[in-house]
Amino acid sequence: MNLKEHLLQTLQEECAEVIQAASKINRFGEKGTYPDGTGNIEKLEQEYNDLIAVVELLKENTDIRIYEDIRLITLKKAKVMLHCEVAKNNNALV
Ligand SMILES: [Mg+2]
Repeated sequence: MNLKEHLLQTLQEECAEVIQAASKINRFGEKGTYPDGTGNIEKLEQEYNDLIAVVELLKENTDIRIYEDIRLITLKKAKVMLHCEVAKNNNALV
């Protein structure tokens, strides 16, 4: 495994940790805590920042170049909000 592969693997793991932290908020609530006392929102913030750190390491140490693109972000936000409206119309979102 080379450095790029190692960092990509780490990126996958951090994505999974963000997923887990979001799931814990849904399962146990925003005020829930981990056994070590870390709050669920605090944990999500930690994992989000871990993810950003690994993205930065990829950009700094490999030929992978990924950047925030406000156009893509805007499109995604609109798509997610549209899906929220669909879910509301289906009584799957209150
Ligand atoms: Mg992490």
